[in-house]
Amino acid sequence: MPSLLLDEARARFDLLTVTSYDVTLDLREEETFTSRTVIDLVSHSGDTFLDLKARELRAIGLDGQQLPTDAWSDGRYPLTLTEGEHQLEVDAVMGFRNDGEGLHRAVDPADGRAYVYQMSFMSAAPSVFACFDQPDIKAPYTLHVIAPEDWTVVANAAGEQVETGRWEFQQTQPLSTYFVTLVAGPYHRIRDEHDGIPLGLLCRSSMAAALDDDADELFTTTKQCFDEFHRLFGVRYQFGKYDQAFVPDFNAAAMENPGCVTFREAYVFTSKVPRGLRVQRAACVAHEMAHQWFGNLVSPRWWDDLWLNEAFAEYMGNRVTAEATEFTEAVAWAATARKNWGLTADARPSTHPVAGNGALDADSALQDFDGISYAKGHAVLTQLAHRLGDDVFFSGVRDHFERHRFGNATMHDLFGAWERAGAGDLNTWTDAWLRTAGVDRIDLVRTGGGSAELVRTSPDGVVSRRAQAVALARWDGETWSVDDIQVDEDRTAVGVGPGVAAVVDADTGAWADITFDDVTAAQLAGLMPRTVDPLIRSAIWITVRNGVDHARLDPAAAVDILVGGIPNEEHDFALTALSAWAGDDGEGTHNSVHWKLLPVVSDRASAERRLYDAFLARATSAPAGSELQLAAAQGAVLNAPAPDPLRALLANDWLPGLTVDSGMRWRAFKRLASLDATDLDELDKALAEDNDAKSQLAHAWCRARLPDPEAKAWAWRRFTGEVDATNYEIDAIGSGMWQTGRDDLLAPYAARYFDELPGTTAVRSGWVLGDAARFFFPISVMTDDTLARRDQLLADESLNPTLRRVLMDAGDDLRRRIETVRRYS
Ligand SMILES: [Zn+2]
Repeated sequence: MPSLLLDEARARFDLLTVTSYDVTLDLREEETFTSRTVIDLVSHSGDTFLDLKARELRAIGLDGQQLPTDAWSDGRYPLTLTEGEHQLEVDAVMGFRNDGEGLHRAVDPADGRAYVYQMSFMSAAPSVFACFDQPDIKAPYTLHVIAPEDWTVVANAAGEQVETGRWEFQQTQPLSTYFVTLVAGPYHRIRDEHDGIPLGLLCRSSMAAALDDDADELFTTTKQCFDEFHRLFGVRYQFGKYDQAFVPDFNAAAMENPGCVTFREAYVFTSKVPRGLRVQRAACVAHEMAHQWFGNLVSPRWWDDLWLNEAFAEYMGNRVTAEATEFTEAVAWAATARKNWGLTADARPSTHPVAGNGALDADSALQDFDGISYAKGHAVLTQLAHRLGDDVFFSGVRDHFERHRFGNATMHDLFGAWERAGAGDLNTWTDAWLRTAGVDRIDLVRTGGGSAELVRTSPDGVVSRRAQAVALARWDGETWSVDDIQVDEDRTAVGVGPGVAAVVDADTGAWADITFDDVTAAQLAGLMPRTVDPLIRSAIWITVRNGVDHARLDPAAAVDILVGGIPNEEHDFALTALSAWAGDDGEGTHNSVHWKLLPVVSDRASAERRLYDAFLARATSAPAGSELQLAAAQGAVLNAPAPDPLRALLANDWLPGLTVDSGMRWRAFKRLASLDATDLDELDKALAEDNDAKSQLAHAWCRARLPDPEAKAWAWRRFTGEVDATNYEIDAIGSGMWQTGRDDLLAPYAARYFDELPGTTAVRSGWVLGDAARFFFPISVMTDDTLARRDQLLADESLNPTLRRVLMDAGDDLRRRIETVRRYS
């Protein structure tokens, strides 16, 4: 189906205004649902089209006249409108989906009950109801739902069950199609209220106890954030009630649907988690709340401003979490957990400016929705906010909300508001940071005799215009002392004594590609036990990963620094980030799945053993039962060199105080599968004793990891689509399948990947098409042949653009790995 073009969106915006949508959905069947939509609109005279991605169009009428259903094709229905008011009526049958888009339906293995939710972002709304699907055609919605009798139905606006199985909802404020939603099923719902805003939390029934346990924490965070956003923005929340629903198989972390935010279920903690995950969840709650203003009250006109949506929500979300909730470490968490994501993206061949990408159509915009939109956008917006100061920043933001309330706006509108608020001319800054792609390198270069320079190199070799303040930490023999250095030129003199260790970007506030100089790299392992400042430690952890990622830090030196610092790390989120980066057994995530330390280190067995010992030392020195102990124990499990400690863990006889629950047991099984120390019988038995959705995914990961040909063939049938699999199964099976050192089993699949990837467009689309390509990319088969096969496929001009982007980025990761191995072994 064609992706909406910017030109088409402009023409349709100029032609018509939608006055209201009235949508009736009948959700009582299992495969399909009926969708009846009445659209009132005002039009000029002209030709346009309606978006409809249905199984069957039963009837369509315009102003009471039936139109031929056979004019509908390729997701569009052509319309010729005359000047004036019109009413469209569309009666269609739609399919439930299992890829996390449209109306997703999942059956809970724990009790056989079905759950439904709607994900409209970015272009899936027409697979739920007929609409003009673009962000700047906003309209109020009235929703009616017929559902099975035991279901609860929640949507953007408040609603109620008027008779058994019939739900009526109030008319919403004007909404963009991409954030229209409903959540329906036998959901467990907890209610509260704050400052006149009804609050709700929802999850599937089988997870009710876990959500009940955390309801206080989630409601408290929500209330504190509402108060703070009201104070900072000076505009009240505008969408009535506020539900937060944790839903199955969700592709993103969360989606900011006005009044009814949807979250991934991993945020319902059915097993004990380190505190870092609570920080992450709170920051996510705050991020989605920030969108209620920036994104929902004022929405982007077109997809090329999505970066601003995300950068703003990241900045406000992390800041408000740190300043208004108990999770004061949110800013340090964000740097440690996410900055490398953006730095890596900004150094790739596919890098792009933060803003102004054109985004000719929705599909291409989705491809640029990456670490640059989130992590870099966040970093540069933080710099801008510091530069403007709160008075100018927030008076500009308030002006923007007032002017474009319930409407749409662009980046230029917001920057105009800041200029009116007293920001001065922002053009130079905007050009340097938002309209120029790539990241400057900043290296500490020792020039002899106790002097040194910060040498800035921009990626294309031209003089960089990106001026920024960079914190420089020097080791004075006892502790680190930090100074802010203004880097305006390509060479900036700094005083660093001979042999003195120095850390560049010691407060993590700069946006730069940084490596340790050799003098510092040689000392850091020894200095880590004496380094206590959390920001400097965070900076070091970011730089270690960046150095290995760019093949500029010997992986063996990186292991030394990790081993030096892990035993006295105080932040569990740093342990979590480092263990996931180091091993290759981690759960796949969108921003780190393809880069790990152990696959490129020359003496892997010894590195693994030393990392295991370091995590174990931290787990042993941390208070028994603490979150720090848990995070360190998880790191030890991920790097366990032999089955013994894992077997002890499963027998609940490993570390005193450690909670051995479902999550921990499956971590042990994953490692056992990697070590070839379990089998399908044992895994099946474990699943039978603990059968819920999370266990099923962990079991699928383990099964794909088993080092035998049958397991790999089983995984492969899910990739090709020969056997249907949900989006989450695809992610689990793909990240489980590839393991370094198993080319004997996997090399044939590396070749097949490039042959069979193009055909996956016949079985998948949207988000999961890219995810399947990413998670099944043969990252562990680190040979020139794999790279050559990738290049061959990229040369095929007919290749789907989503697949092309995945091949570019995953291939870039593979190339770096190969380069690192060559350079340092
Ligand atoms: Zn967001």
